[in-house]
Amino acid sequence: QRPVLHADVDTVAAVVASGEREEALPAAIRFDAYRAAGGYALWEAVRSGARDPASIVAALDEAGLRGLGGAGFPAARKWRTVAAQPAPRHMAVNIDEGEPGTFKDRHYLSTDPHRFIEGMLIAARVVGIAAIWIYIRDEYPALRRLLAEELERVRAEWPELPPIELRRGAGAYVCGEESAMIESIEGKRGMPRLRPPYVAEVGLFGRPTLEHNLETLWWVRDIVDMSAERGADGFASHGRHGRKGLRSFSVSGRVARPGVVVTDAGITLRELIDEHCGGMLPGHELYGYFPGGASGGILPARLADVPLDFDTLAPYGCFIGSAAIVVFSQHDQARLLAENAMAFFAHESCGQCTPCRVGTAKAAQLMQAPAWDAGLLTELGRTMMDASICGLGQAAPNPMQSVLRFFPHEVGGARAGAAGGASPTAPDACA
Ligand code: SF4
Repeated sequence: QRPVLHADVDTVAAVVASGEREEALPAAIRFDAYRAAGGYALWEAVRSGARDPASIVAALDEAGLRGLGGAGFPAARKWRTVAAQPAPRHMAVNIDEGEPGTFKDRHYLSTDPHRFIEGMLIAARVVGIAAIWIYIRDEYPALRRLLAEELERVRAEWPELPPIELRRGAGAYVCGEESAMIESIEGKRGMPRLRPPYVAEVGLFGRPTLEHNLETLWWVRDIVDMSAERGADGFASHGRHGRKGLRSFSVSGRVARPGVVVTDAGITLRELIDEHCGGMLPGHELYGYFPGGASGGILPARLADVPLDFDTLAPYGCFIGSAAIVVFSQHDQARLLAENAMAFFAHESCGQCTPCRVGTAKAAQLMQAPAWDAGLLTELGRTMMDASICGLGQAAPNPMQSVLRFFPHEVGGARAGAAGGASPTAPDACA
């Protein structure tokens, strides 16, 4: 008789295998259709030398394209920095998409994958990349198969391309952090590196590395190719409330029509809900929202008219990150959402540094008290922000601090029942 352990392993393997078989490939635009519609014309121009690489970097600069994985670093500056490093240079593409509430990369990959692949090839050629690694989350098995098939098709068309390797993530949130992802690709435990040196100088296998989120590369063709449906002027001419460009918002929660919304940078939450999401769900009134996934903090309803973009939320202790907007209503409690976020961070902490490893676990425990110890939690949060190695530990206190600042009525006394909710008209502490 076989040991139980072996039987379990076999069962799990069979379930995983059948799950992968059952999940149909999305109805994406495939290679031939993309090409027939003018796709890869820009890549061909770059490849043949008909298009000057410097003009491409300049177009990205003019459009103000920034890293859309969350960090918001100017893309053109990153390309120039890596291109100035000694060869061989590597490229790493981040499709780990682990930030709670974020699903834009999945949307782009499942609808128009070649727009991303074309941007990736252009970046590789302009920067002089010797090899490319694509890191895709394991929870997207059908997308991985789709991407593998389409990359094979691209390789058949242009056999001279640099090696492109597809790597599977293993479900660790921290591996979305650029240096942890590089460790993981190298086959090591996914733990963030101390910087400097930055990955642009010493990245994958010790070589200078251009690292980008899928969406950043997805925009390259549209921004650069003046013959495409949106050119450099087109991209930069979008935007509201003094902001420039387009953003992809992953909207979820208590709205009538959740989903990916591509619209003006600087749009406010109220405009986003009213113009693109069909309003709030029946019976729900806006009470608050996460503007940037679990790590970007929480804002109250009265701040629904703040422009949503890089840099605009800093005065409120929040950031937009990958633009994952999670909307909640009077039937929810900000404190429960913050507790959930902190428990998530405690679970996902890689454990490398004490402020994050101990801080997240301690904060999660303290937040269970009916009345929060505001002084202690604030001090703990400040220590985590100041002394953690990477963004996970530095941003983990954000939702907690947002509750202390904007929803103090929820944590000042007796713990409300989970189903009780909080009043949308309850006063905020912050003027
Ligand atoms: Fe690891 Fe957290 Fe330290 Fe980042 S901050 S290195 S996730 S322990």
